[in-house]
Amino acid sequence: MESHGKINKGTVVKSTGSWYNVRGADGVVTQCRIVGKFRLNKMILTNPVGVGDEVEWQKEGAGQGVIKKILPRRNYVVRQSPRQLHHLHLMAANIDQALLFVTVVEPMLKPGFIDRFLLTTEPHDVPVRIVFNKSDLYTPDALEVYESVRAVYTGIGYEAQLFSSVTGEGREELTNFLKDKITLVSGQSGVGKSTAVNALQPGLEIKIGELSGWSGKGQHTTTFAEMHPLAFGGSIIDTPGIKTLAFNNLELMDIAHNFREFFVLSVHCRFGGACLHLNEPDCAVKEALENGEVSPTRYDHYLQLMDEVKDTNYWERHKEL
Ligand code: GDP
Ligand code: ZN
Repeated sequence: MESHGKINKGTVVKSTGSWYNVRGADGVVTQCRIVGKFRLNKMILTNPVGVGDEVEWQKEGAGQGVIKKILPRRNYVVRQSPRQLHHLHLMAANIDQALLFVTVVEPMLKPGFIDRFLLTTEPHDVPVRIVFNKSDLYTPDALEVYESVRAVYTGIGYEAQLFSSVTGEGREELTNFLKDKITLVSGQSGVGKSTAVNALQPGLEIKIGELSGWSGKGQHTTTFAEMHPLAFGGSIIDTPGIKTLAFNNLELMDIAHNFREFFVLSVHCRFGGACLHLNEPDCAVKEALENGEVSPTRYDHYLQLMDEVKDTNYWERHKEL
């Protein structure tokens, strides 16, 4: 135990819940555990250390270590824990951008899913590209759906593209996007994310065709976020397929402020940044909605989210922490 004193630095590349794999600048990965409590702005986290975190650790026993300190994060992405409703799950930290895999066929795009995902990236202004996957399967009708969904999101500053692991469509475009960046990769289960990641970085051999995160018998399988280096430069943080995203941790105002085009418009609302764009007088968002400048589907999803969180009061419930 004589090596206890030395402080090592590294990046968390995998978190399994109880162990964290930390990679040093020399590329060596050490399995570390954590001691003590780490909190994020008083929030209860199921995993206090996330993939992408820069940490300080010390050796403990044979080839293992203890994380002593999490270095300040430049950003992070959290979601409500799918298992414990009042806990948050840290999906990734210190990322440059995020890639969201969706498809409009097999499975059909779940209404509101993109808007929900964007609520996780928006608080830290993480740039997002939406990949419309399995483009080889798109009929003319499906292409029309794609075009209209794409227009909604590119219209408010997100990037979007088609991709197919079967035809190779969009591969070069996606490679250029990922090159030399740290990218959080996410998507609903079954949209072909694992297949795409394997196609982009041969040799990763991420398991395909399983509904990751949830087995057929209604039991969670153990799948965890993991950072993988890309041979052409950069790395991806692959995360388990998402079933649903709920926002018990958010308040009405958080949602209002993280629908980016609504937030921009809110300077023209009578109540400015305090407007929830529901029934307030002189609301610029509702005006823009009537003029066709705000997407009705975005606004519908917004109303649904507002309705879901209207009775939650996360900070009140946790103020003793
Ligand atoms: P994940 O849950 O998002 O990781 O999805 P998988 O990569 O496991 O793929 C789910 C299913 O979609 C599998 O049956 C794949 O073979 C299929 N799939 C993946 N990508 C494509 C694609 O680009 N085109 C077509 N037609 N099928 C695909
Ligand atoms: Zn308003």
